[in-house]
Amino acid sequence: MLFTDLNLISPILKALEKEGYESPTPIQEKAIPHILQWRDVLGSAQTGTGKTAAFAIPTLQILSREREVSNMPRTIKSLILTPTRELAIQIEESFTAYGKNLGLRHAVVFWWVSQYSQTEKLRKWIDILVATPGRLLDLMNQWFVNLKHVEIFILDEADRMLDMWFINDVKKVLTKLPVKKQTLFFSATMPKEILGLANSILVNPIKIEVAPVSSTANTIKQSVYFVRKNDKRELLADLLKSPEIASALVFTRTKHGANRVVENLEKAWIVAEAIHGNKSQNARQRALSNFKTKQTRVLVATDIAARWIDIDDLSHVINYDIPNESETYVHRIWRTWRAGLSGTAISFCDQDEIGYLQDIQKLISKKIDVVEDHDFAMKMPQNPTSTGSKNQVSSSSKKHTSKPKIHNSNPKNQTSRSTQESKKSFPPKKNFSEHRKRKLWFGGR
Ligand code: AMP
Repeated sequence: MLFTDLNLISPILKALEKEGYESPTPIQEKAIPHILQWRDVLGSAQTGTGKTAAFAIPTLQILSREREVSNMPRTIKSLILTPTRELAIQIEESFTAYGKNLGLRHAVVFWWVSQYSQTEKLRKWIDILVATPGRLLDLMNQWFVNLKHVEIFILDEADRMLDMWFINDVKKVLTKLPVKKQTLFFSATMPKEILGLANSILVNPIKIEVAPVSSTANTIKQSVYFVRKNDKRELLADLLKSPEIASALVFTRTKHGANRVVENLEKAWIVAEAIHGNKSQNARQRALSNFKTKQTRVLVATDIAARWIDIDDLSHVINYDIPNESETYVHRIWRTWRAGLSGTAISFCDQDEIGYLQDIQKLISKKIDVVEDHDFAMKMPQNPTSTGSKNQVSSSSKKHTSKPKIHNSNPKNQTSRSTQESKKSFPPKKNFSEHRKRKLWFGGR
């Protein structure tokens, strides 16, 4: 399917062409025709599926058509609520890009910037307002915003609103909206409270769910490096020497871990910045902007911080730490996937993370290729409780004919003794090359 099959007006088609979009993503294909028919939508989709365009394009088209035939005073006709400042900025950027030939006006409001700059915009006419809930309520209480004429209400990332305790603010905003309106409701997950909210505001909605994330993960080139925890930083610096890695989003489990990775990369003269909850909004925004404009090649993030960022042209995701929840792995590597383009995801797996890796492989129904030929390869100890084929990880190397075996135990259950043993069996680094010649990989003794 092409965008031209979706009955879109030519100013929008031209803008999409300028953006380089050739065909709609699944959620766009499913949602746009219904939204153009003024249907309510309940969309279950993650960031990275093209959901912003799925709601922005038809919203722009509806409002632009309306303006052609109506003399109504120009007031806010569409409100988009989103949980974070980063998302709010990205959504407004999308409205700017797709609506560049339409002459509709939009504004974005969120905390942490001077109120004056935002209210100045609101004093003029605005067709579309993108907002975070708290700031919007604050401005409404000061009579800067009137939502009485909203026709299209979009709630983005509803489950994040719940996680971040914004759901009551959302409910307050809802009381200020007209009863008769079109509502588009998007959430990555549908916990009970979110479904309850959706049921209370949607009228006969079209339900749209994009393909389960785990299957999409298979379009991404994935590999794993087995490495000792203490060698991860050197392995990362080593990999980043390759010009093939044009941009990398590196994931760590903790905020301190992210800072440490940045410090170590800086020692290796690699420009990197961290983005996580301990950084101020301004620092996060600056790091993101530097990364997007390619001034920084490496962005190190925790999962929570990364959920809010949307980056085009990301060539590599590197899992410095393997996440303990398999779904998180899929969300992370999705970052390299942009509307069908396939990126590369590399994971570093230490002794304690093997159980997590196995869970991930089960979720994505795929064995991740093992890269053996690197300077920090780790020999895995044989696990006496190993149960054979279940514990195998495929290898991309041609050096070894037999499939290597990996430790099967859940890291949480590993005894300190087994850890001690595994440490003993690791080669000291100085002997590494020789050891590699002796076929390092699991079972390749
Ligand atoms: P979103 O899920 O809205 O965060 O979008 C993810 C990314 O996909 C954004 O960077 C968009 O610019 C990009 N994108 C959205 N729709 C398309 C499309 N049809 N073709 C190519 N890229 C797209």
